Amino acid sequence: MRNILYQLDDKYLEMKIMDKVSEFIEDRSDEMKETLMELLRYPAIGPDNDGDGEMAKAEYLMNILPKFGFDKIDRYDAPDDRVTSGRRPNIVAVKHGVTDKNVVIIAHMDIVPSGDLDEWDTDPFEPVYKDGKIYGRGAEDNGQEIVASLFAAKTLDEMDIDHKNNLKVMLVSDEETGSEYGIDHLLEEGLIHQDDLVIVPDHSEKNGRQIEIVEKSALWVKVTTHGIQGHAAGLGRTINANRVASRYLLDVDKRLHESFDEEDELFSPPVSTFEPTKRELNVPNVNTVPGTDVQYYDCRILPPIDLTDVKEVFEKTADEISKETGAKFEIEYSKEKETPKKTPEDAEVVIQLKKAVEDHRRGTWFGRHRWGDCSRTYQGKGHPCSGMVFQR
Ligand SMILES: [Zn+2]
Repeated sequence: MRNILYQLDDKYLEMKIMDKVSEFIEDRSDEMKETLMELLRYPAIGPDNDGDGEMAKAEYLMNILPKFGFDKIDRYDAPDDRVTSGRRPNIVAVKHGVTDKNVVIIAHMDIVPSGDLDEWDTDPFEPVYKDGKIYGRGAEDNGQEIVASLFAAKTLDEMDIDHKNNLKVMLVSDEETGSEYGIDHLLEEGLIHQDDLVIVPDHSEKNGRQIEIVEKSALWVKVTTHGIQGHAAGLGRTINANRVASRYLLDVDKRLHESFDEEDELFSPPVSTFEPTKRELNVPNVNTVPGTDVQYYDCRILPPIDLTDVKEVFEKTADEISKETGAKFEIEYSKEKETPKKTPEDAEVVIQLKKAVEDHRRGTWFGRHRWGDCSRTYQGKGHPCSGMVFQR
């Protein structure tokens, strides 16, 4: 008899099947581990990060995909001259359900560079299994989710489960550097529809119970203060850029926190954050009044606060202090990401995901999206979608 999941009224029977599913997956943990470790051997780094792209990893995946029981495996590569292959690969694997409705899982193949190798205990591209954990670049982001998605299809196939919706697994390029050659390309190809249930498993949380439906906006600000350099003993006219910039820092900090003091418990922390962070080195010696000061701010802003209003506070404060002190300010915004529309808590994908997670992990909570992932790109185009984790 086939296992029919989509028309079960009997909760007991449904639970029994889900127990069998869990057991089936447990039994494959070694196979999952090996698949992930092999994936981690491919340094799929995009050309924006000086890498040669995702092609070798995609080819490895194309080789193993047939054994996961998909009915259809297609490629939608995006042209990109900057990599040897000239293409950024995107794979769409479909396992047909009994209706036309799609559950779409989007995971990304690309990874960020390894950074300083001295900071690693082991080779980032030679994965190591130790104490129940796998160490290697991209093991969590987004390797484990690729493997979990593939084994979800394998479970449906080998357990002979008649599932209601089509399962579409999209393995995309370019998530780490803008998504133009990945999810954007698939959206342009018309591969995702408004009524698809889209899940982006690209966030990690210890218990795997958080469902992400919204995120903060982000703004990086560089403030350069121009004064007049001179001798610290007061010989000749000076405008101390360090002093003016310090005053600016305190003033703008106070105004930002006062102007945008909204709270939203959906976020952690539940408030907007405005942090003065980096400050560039000024003069090398103690007895010179610095003529220039460069400081930076990292701002994470709650929706629906408008970034234009935040910028206005930075600029107005600069104008006022400039008039009083004679110093000149230059303000630049190096990163600016307005938050996409929040996915409603009663969107079908959220309700379904919540039910699934609650059945197996006892409780869920809503949270924010990490900014910049595929879900932001997708949500940004006005579609609801949910993120979650597959960690045990
Ligand atoms: Zn990611």
